[in-house]
Amino acid sequence: MQNHLKAVSTNHADFTRLRESCGLSFEFFPPKNDRMQRCLWRNIGQLELLGPKFFSVTYGAGGSDRERSMETLSQMQLECPVPLAAHITFSGHSQTEVLEIASRMYDQGIRSLVALRGDAEPVKNSFKCTEDFISALRELADFDISVAAYPEVHPLAESPQADLEQLKRKLQSGASRAISQYFFDVDNYLRFRDRAAGIGIENALVPGILPIHNFERVLAFSERCGTHVPERLKALFEGTEGNLHVQHKLSSELTVNMCDRLLSEGVKDLHFYTLNTPTLSFEVARQLGIPLSSRIANAA
Ligand code: FAD
Repeated sequence: MQNHLKAVSTNHADFTRLRESCGLSFEFFPPKNDRMQRCLWRNIGQLELLGPKFFSVTYGAGGSDRERSMETLSQMQLECPVPLAAHITFSGHSQTEVLEIASRMYDQGIRSLVALRGDAEPVKNSFKCTEDFISALRELADFDISVAAYPEVHPLAESPQADLEQLKRKLQSGASRAISQYFFDVDNYLRFRDRAAGIGIENALVPGILPIHNFERVLAFSERCGTHVPERLKALFEGTEGNLHVQHKLSSELTVNMCDRLLSEGVKDLHFYTLNTPTLSFEVARQLGIPLSSRIANAA
């Protein structure tokens, strides 16, 4: 098994090359009201300048949430020159219903999906497992499919090994890559990647990066989703409660360091959870040294 935790020396020229060639994607959730929507549209344009591989839109299985996801996708198709990936979850839907939604997305021109279980209550005639859902989507149309991965283990997983084997099954069912849950401990991601390689997973495991927009909220959410928040991070943000300006500054520096380490460890793509705060993700990408102009052509 490879050991990625060895010290890596990367010189300045190497870093510039790694940053320039790295692929970015940015995730959004459907804005909940008109004000949030205006705010998103006002700021999303700056991310287009980074030439991302795709923008993705999360999915809520409930009626109004689902419609908001579909509306946001339609609007992004009209407004953004960036390829789109639609998240879609099967829990809370019957098989027929969720495949109809996927067909609607396909008819709308969506060719990339992030296929997930979701956390809604199961309903009658729903898919029994995520890998069956992925196989059905592949039969339905020529979608490019991403799935979720959990470097620090999904909270409901029976064991870390069972979680990893579940990831392998999803990839074997026809997914191209996995996007990871966000993490702050890069070593945990690297160990996870090594363990995945150890059971024969060869697909890209794209790290999910969360630039911290509000530390108190991130702390609470991390507890629920099983992301480890290292003590050094808690110490760094101590005393900054309610001061988002200072938190964003700390967050930029922290995220840039994380991304640099990941790139130096051979990561090729980074997926940013923007939480609809494009400015923070943009700032991080710029501090990371991702160039603007040379990438505009790629985004068109
Ligand atoms: P699976 O691959 O089926 O499961 C992952 C692990 O969790 C396995 O170990 C499995 O055994 C265990 N597990 C999960 N649920 C259960 C259960 N009910 N019973 C037993 N074991 C279980 N959610 C949304 O609602 N909308 C989104 O748009 C969305 N986007 C996401 C994007 C990314 C990149 C990630 C990482 C997560 C996203 N989620 C989203 C959250 C996701 O739906 C939940 O984490 C869900 O609990 C697991 O989905 P999965 O597809 O990874 O499930």
